[in-house]
Amino acid sequence: MELDDLIARLGDSPLSPLQPLLTPARLDSLRHGDFQRWRGCVRDLPGLLAETRDFTDAVVIGAADEITPPQRQALEQGLRGFLPWRKGPFDVFGIHIDTEWRSDLKWQRLAQAIEPLQGRTVLDVGAGNGYYCLRMLGQGAELVIGIDPHLPFVAQAWALKRFIPRAPAWIVPCGLEDLPLPLPHFDTVFSMGVLYHRRSPVDHLLELLDCLRPGGELVLETLYVEGDEGYCLTPANTYARMNKIWFIPSIATLQRWLARCGYERIEVIDESVTTIEEQRATDWMPFDSLVDSLQTDNPELTIEGLPAPRRVIISAHAPG
Ligand code: SAH
Repeated sequence: MELDDLIARLGDSPLSPLQPLLTPARLDSLRHGDFQRWRGCVRDLPGLLAETRDFTDAVVIGAADEITPPQRQALEQGLRGFLPWRKGPFDVFGIHIDTEWRSDLKWQRLAQAIEPLQGRTVLDVGAGNGYYCLRMLGQGAELVIGIDPHLPFVAQAWALKRFIPRAPAWIVPCGLEDLPLPLPHFDTVFSMGVLYHRRSPVDHLLELLDCLRPGGELVLETLYVEGDEGYCLTPANTYARMNKIWFIPSIATLQRWLARCGYERIEVIDESVTTIEEQRATDWMPFDSLVDSLQTDNPELTIEGLPAPRRVIISAHAPG
């Protein structure tokens, strides 16, 4: 089954409390949309093993000349079965999956600013299809565990993993709140694009702290609004067409939340305005995207009349 290698790898290590989340029985019990059918689609993908791989400057899994034209056709058809592809891009045996997000741009904004991942055990909360987990391996991480409750993205991750079975990165279908906490054994914990989806953002920050070893680094990326310390936006309904957005703090408010939770050495790594070059519809995500969420005559406002998306990346540390 998909996570058997991870179960074996965890053995009786400090991370072994994760094992009940990884069992075939639990995976079989997950019911959401087409998850069980997608697992079948993953198994039906051509059985190819990638010789070429590069996770350093991009995510390259296999080269075009490693497969025959019929294999390429079957592969592309199989991968398109997992539409929409939101995070990427990926190059898979010469097939360029041009995703909605240029996730590589976010990675460029943080890669040099965080503590080197060489030899580290990493947790990626809200890992989606695992794009960043592979980039983390590209920076030398020893083990990467990504978690995400959204099963369509997990299916994409497992599809790609078929071609690189020995890469030490796994995506586990669960939310942060499902982990057996405290589990203070990760050297670096990422939470990117998740905080504003949480009804209790401070609890999310505390749960992240519960995953860090003493002195470990949190890399937090989230939406922010301009404003003083204390200010935080809670949209009346949607925000940039997204449902279930609860809290979008000012940077100063976010720093205060982190400090109150007990984080130390809190530093802003980057602030950016999300552009329609970074998030856009493509052949692999043919639906509405950022441009459809902004006012046509004033792209500084969302269609709800709220400030257009800006994102901040913060590094913070567990005490110790
Ligand atoms: N980290 C990626 C993806 C962000 S999208 C990036 O930065 O581009 C946000 C992801 O968080 C989604 O895939 C969503 O399913 C996931 N998510 C939402 N609630 C979560 C929770 N409680 N625990 C873990 N992941 C969660």
